[in-house]
Order: sequence, then C-alpha cells, then structure tokens
Amino acid sequence: MHGKRTGEALDPGFLALLDWDWERRVITFPRMHPVIGLPDCPVPNCPSAITIATRPMCWGCMGRRRKSGMPLAEFLLVPTSISTGIGQQPCAVDRCERPRDTAAARLCATHRLQRTQALGGLGMEEFLAHPKVVGLAGLGPCLVTACYLDRVGSKYPYCKAHTQRLRTFPEEPDFDEERWRLTDKAICSTREVSLRGVPDRLAAEALYALSSRVDNGYKLRPECLRPLYDRLRAQQVTGLEEVTEPEAAGYSREQVTMIRAAQLALSRLNTTPETERVKDVWDMSVFGHTGVLPFTSITQTPLREAMKIWVYDDLPRRRNKNAVHHARAVVAALATLFGEPAPPTPRPRGGSGGVGAGRHRGVLQPHGPPHRDGEAECSPAAGLHPIRPAGPAPLPHAGPGRSGGCAGGDAGRLRDLARGHAR
Ligand SMILES: [Zn+2]
Ligand SMILES: [Zn+2]
Ligand SMILES: [Zn+2]
Repeated sequence: MHGKRTGEALDPGFLALLDWDWERRVITFPRMHPVIGLPDCPVPNCPSAITIATRPMCWGCMGRRRKSGMPLAEFLLVPTSISTGIGQQPCAVDRCERPRDTAAARLCATHRLQRTQALGGLGMEEFLAHPKVVGLAGLGPCLVTACYLDRVGSKYPYCKAHTQRLRTFPEEPDFDEERWRLTDKAICSTREVSLRGVPDRLAAEALYALSSRVDNGYKLRPECLRPLYDRLRAQQVTGLEEVTEPEAAGYSREQVTMIRAAQLALSRLNTTPETERVKDVWDMSVFGHTGVLPFTSITQTPLREAMKIWVYDDLPRRRNKNAVHHARAVVAALATLFGEPAPPTPRPRGGSGGVGAGRHRGVLQPHGPPHRDGEAECSPAAGLHPIRPAGPAPLPHAGPGRSGGCAGGDAGRLRDLARGHAR
C-alpha cells in the first residue's frame, strides 16, 4: 500500500544510529543514546550489552555472579572465559575465513582438529607458526534466511547454532526444512535484532515504527523486538496492515501494543491536513495537536462541512494547547444551537440533556434568541455560549484582542458559510 512512502520517510540519521544496511538487515542498538543506548557489560571479555539499565552487568554475568557468590567489585575484575556462542569471531590462523568453533578455542573446527589430532596437541603459538597450518576458504553463509552468520562445516549448510537447532527437531516426516529455513529465527547478540527474511516493505515499516517510538521516548529493548519480528517472519507477513487482529494471531500483549502503535504511526505518515479535513472525526496529531475532534454531533451536512472549513481556517491561528479544546467547544455549541428543537412532549426530569446524541435532524435554524447571563468576554464562542445546556466541555475564552469579532461575529460567519455550502 504505502511501502515506498514509508521507505522515503525513514530518517537516514536514525538508520545510521542503528548501523542499518539494507544488505545485512540487522538492527544494532547503539552504546550511547539517551533512549535506546545499551552500554557494554563491564566484565572483561564479555561481548554482551546491559539491556536492563538498572543492572550493573549483562544477564549472563548476573547469573554467573549469583552462582559464584563473589562481591561485585571483585567479580568485575575477572575476565569471563565462557563463550555464549553469540556472534562469530574469525579463526586465529592467518587468512583463515572460517569462524571460531568456540571463543576459548580461538580456532575454526578444522584447525582445532588439526592442532589436537594431526599435529599432536601443539601449543597455540607453536601451532600458529607451523608451516603446515594455512588459512582456509570460508564455507559460505548459513542458509537460514534470518541468520547472518557463516557456516561452520561442510556437512550442514548452517552456522553452529542452526546446525544444533536442526538436530533437535524430531525426525518427523512432515518437517519441512525449506520452510524452516525461511521462518526460523536468527542467532543474535544482545544488541542485535535481525530483520532478514522479511520483505523490504515490512522492514521499512518496522524501522519507521521504531523511530517513531524512539522519538516519543519509549525505551524499546532488543529482546522485546526480536520475538515480534520473529513472529512476523514466521507468519510470512508482508505489511503491518495485514495484522488486523494481533491478539487472535497469538501476539503477546506487549507486541499487540507495539503493532497498534506502529499501525497508528504508519497511518499518520500517510495522512496530511488536506486528507484529514474531509473526515468527520479529525486526528488532531495531523495538525500538530493531540486528541481527536469529532464533528459528528452536527447532523446537518452543510453546517458540518461549513464548520470543518471554519475550524480548518481557525486552527493555524491558535498554536496553544487549548486549540483543540476550543474547537471542540465551538462544535458542541454549534450542534446545540442548530440542533433539532426539543420535542413538544416534556422530558422526564433528570433525562439526558447532553449535546449531540443523534437528536439534531432539523432545518438550519437556531433555537430562538440566545440568552446572555452577564457573559461579557469577547470570544468566537461567546455568542453561542449562553444557550449551551449543561454539557461536558466548558467554553474557553480567547485572550483580549485574540479575535477580531465579538459575540455573534463568528456565529454569523458560520451561518453564511453553511448557507453558501447548502447552495
Ligand atoms: Zn557480561
Ligand atoms: Zn581456521
Ligand atoms: Zn545460522
């Protein structure tokens, strides 16, 4: 629907902040950023980031420290020797293009075997200098679409983690390896989120939604985004508007909130004041305000259309936060002023006397002369104020000199507009 426009709306500065590259398609959370910055874990040799700001270390180191029982200051000085298996480091042999088998071994699987078996367990420095030890060509990328790691052996066309994951599947006859490649999740480091394996359009929408959330100050964490994108990939979604009922599709509550926020941000992206002004309920964020402005209480079409024109013209003159409040009050007052006269039968006491509520279906005519109760302030709504029944919105008053016309001036203009529209 609007993939191209979403792509064009992406801020290159934000994409650079995420180290985004349309080839690699991996979001990398920055170390330094007021909203989404993830600092490095302070434990020496630990490749992870701290994803929960209130913790002093990454999740893995927190667990190791709990088991060790060491004081924090002491624990922070001991380098970690545990490989989390996250991320790939190159083999230590000069010009070898294969990834290390484990962080501790420092060698690819082939060189590791050569060292421990063919060359009888040489010391590392001796092994690296041995004339028979030469760099090997890479084996190519892992064939799981979402994955961006390299293959570790020639038997399986996958990285180490995906090879292990594949082996855990029971040998069911209906296991579809091709589909598994398309839909399985990536093996990410703590600060990375893969958007590989999703169409360009969905990736652009996800990035735009992320930038919009970050602009609004939401601290999104990679471990929340990863399962969302994994599910979108697994369900082979091509655009967020396809996800009409995320709850029914199995998304978690947090993911539903993220999807709804993304859909709202994307719908606003494709809305301009010109497209919004023809609607009967305006999303005021399109005009730089907040909330909504319904015109539905004015049931006479010409008058409602005239009111939209009036508000559209009036809004730019009110750049304060009362602008929407003011417009709502004028709409409410007008709905009452030009509403259908009350039915001849008396209403029961305590009955609803609210504004709107589908009772205005009459001709364009005020309900008799306005009655003023000492209201002397000059305001566009002032002329409408006195006949407003006890309604929800109090009428704001423009500041002195804010509006050119006094009581009745704007109401008169509206009447003229409505008549013009009706003609
Ligand atoms: Zn750590
Ligand atoms: Zn190697
Ligand atoms: Zn892989």
